[in-house]
Amino acid sequence: MNVSFLGLGAIGGPIARHLAKPPFSLTVWNRTVERAQAFAADTGARVAKSPADAARGADVVITCLPTSHEVESLLDGEDGLVTGLSSTAVFIDCTSGDPATSRRIAARLAQKGTAFIDAPVSGGVSGAQQGTLTVMCGADEATFDRARPVIEAFGKKIVLCGPVGAGDAVKAVNQALLGIHIWALSEGLVALSKAGVSPKLALDVINASSGRSNVSQNLFTERVITRAFPRTFKLALLEKDVTIAAEFARENRVPSPLTQTAADLLRVARRELGEEADHVEAVKLLEQWAGCEVNG
Ligand code: NDP
Repeated sequence: MNVSFLGLGAIGGPIARHLAKPPFSLTVWNRTVERAQAFAADTGARVAKSPADAARGADVVITCLPTSHEVESLLDGEDGLVTGLSSTAVFIDCTSGDPATSRRIAARLAQKGTAFIDAPVSGGVSGAQQGTLTVMCGADEATFDRARPVIEAFGKKIVLCGPVGAGDAVKAVNQALLGIHIWALSEGLVALSKAGVSPKLALDVINASSGRSNVSQNLFTERVITRAFPRTFKLALLEKDVTIAAEFARENRVPSPLTQTAADLLRVARRELGEEADHVEAVKLLEQWAGCEVNG
């Protein structure tokens, strides 16, 4: 099966590695060509000259880019994906995208006869490396059935959530919960630290209590208390995701003050901490405001 993968970033790279072995024959394309060349040198994948070249002859095309807008920007023009796509190909978008743009992309591809599935992932870089990602899909059942054997190479829990856009919507809601948990735990632990309570001890208690979450059990324990702050998932991308969730709620006329506030706070954090900051570094903004570090 000929698979083409576009976007070898922090999560795209490790996902693509699972497709660089039989029964798949892998072609890659990346905006910064050196990244694609390094990947190819490591895995034996072919490097495509352009998105159109990547799409030519592919049974499956996978994209994993920052937002749906970058995916859409690769579709048209002489070098664009649509030029090379066949009507029998399946287009899997692993970007954490937005439902409205995914529906537009699906409609554009349908003109060529190509099926589209939004398939954003959760599980982080380690889940991508281990091939244990959760994959939330939006498509019709026939497209889901065709995409599934490829998604199984990197996903563990693979769920069809509804029509095109439904995968993006579920992912955005998940990300809103992640953002809200990060911010809420930051507030709590900065306050406890300032009052003289050991944040390490407080986390230990919370992790054995009803307020625990993935953020408290894994992210803060491994990254904040240790001050390690590895950069695996950009704060800029989390801000993008929570903004999609707020927009999704608004479109559906559901009041969402908490999600909206989280999006606003993360936007401030993104501006203050920069485009390269990791999502967990949002706590640093609160630390600056309070003049107190969460330090084990
Ligand atoms: P990165 O910033 O690490 O990588 C982004 C990728 O997109 C790179 O390959 C980059 O190319 C490419 N790119 C950026 N802009 C353009 C453009 N205008 N045209 C073409 N290619 C472009 O992001 P991640 O890999 O972390 O994230 C990718 C997607 O996966 C996002 O939607 C994110 O929300 C989602 N995600 C990320 C997770 C994580 O843990 N990192 C977890 C779950 C989902 P170049 O090399 O040239 O910069």
